[in-house]
Amino acid sequence: MSSPNSVSQAVVIGAGIGGIATAIRLRLKGFAVTVLEAHHSPGGKLTEIRQQGYRFDAGPSLFTLPELVDELYQLAGRDPSAYFRYEALPVITRYLYPDGTRIDAHRDPEAFAGEIERQTGEPRAHVQALLDKSRELYSLTSHVFLTRSLHRLSTYLRRDTLRSALQVHKLDAFRSMHRANRARFRDPRVVQLFDRYATYNGSDPYQAPATLSIIPHLEHNLGAYFPEKGMYDITLGLFQLAEELGVEFRFAAPALRIVHARGRVQGVETAQALLPASVVVSNADIVPTYRRLLPDLPAPELTLRQPRSSSALIFYWGMRRTWPELEVHNIFFSADYQGEFEAIWKRRSLSADPTVYVYVSAKRNPQDAPPGCENWFVMINTPSDQGQDWDALIAQARADILRKLEQQLGAPVAPHIACEQVLDPRSIALRTSSHQGALYGNSSNNPFAAFLRHPNAARRPRGLYFTGGSVHPGGGIPLCLLSARITAELIPDPR
Ligand code: FAD
Repeated sequence: MSSPNSVSQAVVIGAGIGGIATAIRLRLKGFAVTVLEAHHSPGGKLTEIRQQGYRFDAGPSLFTLPELVDELYQLAGRDPSAYFRYEALPVITRYLYPDGTRIDAHRDPEAFAGEIERQTGEPRAHVQALLDKSRELYSLTSHVFLTRSLHRLSTYLRRDTLRSALQVHKLDAFRSMHRANRARFRDPRVVQLFDRYATYNGSDPYQAPATLSIIPHLEHNLGAYFPEKGMYDITLGLFQLAEELGVEFRFAAPALRIVHARGRVQGVETAQALLPASVVVSNADIVPTYRRLLPDLPAPELTLRQPRSSSALIFYWGMRRTWPELEVHNIFFSADYQGEFEAIWKRRSLSADPTVYVYVSAKRNPQDAPPGCENWFVMINTPSDQGQDWDALIAQARADILRKLEQQLGAPVAPHIACEQVLDPRSIALRTSSHQGALYGNSSNNPFAAFLRHPNAARRPRGLYFTGGSVHPGGGIPLCLLSARITAELIPDPR
């Protein structure tokens, strides 16, 4: 590695998970790396909230493909378990339906299919066929859409890409995920369960292509994991590694402008100084990257004007008691799933009967709540922020959510809330600069969405790169880590 005084200086804008991972990779390539972060701590959306003895993961709660985190430690010659430990969840999600049906999604795919058959009568073979299809989709698409740049000719000239191109009909890109699930399953509860995967990247199962049925493969064939100390530990471990490698972090240091001249980046301007750099990587959302940091560059309007993914409304409730009927991840389904998505995507509003996700990390990590208590992360999907009257929507949603949970749990919930914090599309936008508070950049409702996401490198100015959930290959922790890998691979080694 070169010394921090080396002329090969890289500046990363943003200490989201994609920014930290890119900084590690660039440092290991030999760059002197400075990360500018607008906030006072690392992580962006992958952060935590503490209140009155409760700890909450603030953003992501479901963790797949942990090997992508391990890979960064291994690349640096470190033992991943010295920084960050995780375990497989035996029950990935507990699904609770308005009719009283309960399905536990067991880690073992056979047990999961058996549970669905027992609870709904849907033949287990149908579930197994879906998981096989999901595996096939992953093997056909991941090497094209997830792990390589879509914007380099070399990706398309590879033998595995050509093989996949010959089987493009198998991608099911021109039928919605809902239509495909309805054709596969007899029981509407099972259709609903597998439709839900569209929400994993902020999309609508009634519009998004059936190709997104790749997602159950990650969760059910490869597994869902729980970091021993909670999701924020992913950020903290990688932040520690980056610092040990010599990456310099500057907090409360927003980048104001990316400076370029004669077709090359020159550096990044902050309130204090101009940081010279031959490589600048923006981990900030692509929309404010162009609108605020590069006002003098023609913006790729087609990309920037794509519809955004959904956002979320989250109540962090410190609960005074425990609820044995809950798992770590719990879904209380809406009785009208289509109506819920119509409210979000057509009316840009909220359904009176939303699907409610309750995540209780204290089930596995008791220190996350005082003794005899639980930390509830209670989330519903929402449209992105387009100036709705959020105060009114939040007040109504809080009442609707409480009514639903109390009905389904058969006990009062509200009196047991000891403390509360709220995150909504406005505050997500404010805290992470995510355009319209979208969780996953652009939506994937369109079969061509992957091609409309911004590339990881600019043609001009040279030396300008992009990483994270709003650019290729997309949002969610695993894709942000892949984004960092693709971006770092595109950046030539320092001279
Ligand atoms: P971000 O987290 O978007 O961070 C960008 C950083 O850049 C921020 O820290 C911001 O302050 C900084 N920044 C912006 N502008 C500037 C500037 N001008 N100067 C300096 N710094 C700047 N993913 C999953 O895998 N599983 C889940 O279960 C899941 N659930 C989610 C639930 C919620 C409520 C949210 C919000 C997200 C969820 N996600 C989930 C998505 C996941 O969190 C994101 O895709 C991922 O964390 C985004 O990382 P990123 O690298 O794009 O950076």
